[in-house]
Amino acid sequence: MSSDIDAAPCICFFLGHGINENILVGTDEMNMSSNTPPRRLSIFGSTGSIGCNTLDVISHLGGREAFQVCALSGRGNTDLLARQAIDCGVEIAVTADEKRYKDLKRALSGSGIECAAGDKALVEAAERDVEWTMAGIVGMAGLAPTLAAARKGADIALANKECLVSAGSLFQREITAGGGRLLPVDSEHNAIHQVFDRDQSGSVERIILTASGGPFRSLNQNEMAKVSPAMAADHPNWSMGLKISIDSASMFNKALEMIEARHLFDLRPDQIEVIVHPQSVIHSMVGYCDGSVLAQLGAPDMRTAIGYCLSYPKRPDLPIERLDFAQLARLDFEAPDEKRFPALRLARQAMEGGGLLGAVLNGAKEVALEAFIEERIGFLEMADIVEKAMDQIGPGETASSIEAVYDADQRARIIAREMVGASMAAQ
Ligand code: NDP
Ligand code: MG
Repeated sequence: MSSDIDAAPCICFFLGHGINENILVGTDEMNMSSNTPPRRLSIFGSTGSIGCNTLDVISHLGGREAFQVCALSGRGNTDLLARQAIDCGVEIAVTADEKRYKDLKRALSGSGIECAAGDKALVEAAERDVEWTMAGIVGMAGLAPTLAAARKGADIALANKECLVSAGSLFQREITAGGGRLLPVDSEHNAIHQVFDRDQSGSVERIILTASGGPFRSLNQNEMAKVSPAMAADHPNWSMGLKISIDSASMFNKALEMIEARHLFDLRPDQIEVIVHPQSVIHSMVGYCDGSVLAQLGAPDMRTAIGYCLSYPKRPDLPIERLDFAQLARLDFEAPDEKRFPALRLARQAMEGGGLLGAVLNGAKEVALEAFIEERIGFLEMADIVEKAMDQIGPGETASSIEAVYDADQRARIIAREMVGASMAAQ
């Protein structure tokens, strides 16, 4: 998937490349007036798919004249991180991997840009004073820096779904206490955010999350047992990072999104539906008590959701492909198959059980996913491992602290690692 990321429009954003003059005119009243100072923001996970798309959106909305990027972060891709940092003129660039510190420092030498490494450095960078933060780190590793930014009062554009899945209402409380806003980047939640009538939330009956069905939508279980990581990463519609692409193939991505939606929109588990919609044109829907269903549609391009979160409550002018309905001609739907995709059933179990089950599901899933990527277990074993961890640990008490969330996450990882070991021993 690194080719995916490399192909993304990641560099030279702030050198004027690709900036559409019409867009500059269009955004003038938003944040380009000569009297308006640039908005300060940070992007965590800037070297990933979401991070690169965020930088691209920023370039279309005025680049350095409109935005002052304070901090950028990555992990392994230090060369790209350094190029982004220099293009943006950031204050600090952080790699999460301490072993990559020297590489980053070398790549930034002479630029005057501060450089740091490690999880603690990520949190410190997230505590810097900014108005807006993109939470684009993948996995549970995103929780600590996102919490740090939330506590400082930044608006959080949340791509990282693991924060809400694992820490749920605790995470939301931290954002409320910090005084910032929580803006959902995940395309389904962003779609719902756009059509959810907050003034009449009591009239919302249900939300309907759409799922593409991924690359294995029509495979049977025997065929699914044999798929490789490369096949699983080949998403039919969206260009995303490796892990979320494979999670889409197993529908663990949808499972995480169901839990994420429950917290974001304060709904009961039975109000959250999933429908397979292979074209990924309808990004999600809200059903109201009068039978109306409101949907948000668009091309499968994350820059719409990112731009929405960056400009909210205004709409930015972005060069996203416009839908041509005559050419589309049809939109298909089918019920999801929870037998072939047990992740959906496990998400319901996590929502109904409550407590720390979200953290358990996610922690075990991250270990199982890593093991599948490294070809130590098969595709279908991922759900078995998650189910076992959830059954063994149970929901526990209602999450009372972030420490309790980390504890549940760690316990789930230990069980999942044991199961991976047992599976390898049996091979
Ligand atoms: P990518 O894998 O493309 O990027 C992940 C980013 O996180 C990279 O910058 C990576 O650095 C960094 N990173 C990886 N591991 C760590 C770690 N342990 N500590 C700190 N940073 C780390 O992922 P995506 O951009 O696809 O996804 C990011 C998040 O957004 C995920 O939670 C995903 O579920 C969510 N999301 C993504 C969507 C998409 O379209 N891609 C859509 C909706 C949600 P490096 O590459 O330098 O190693
Ligand atoms: Mg999504």
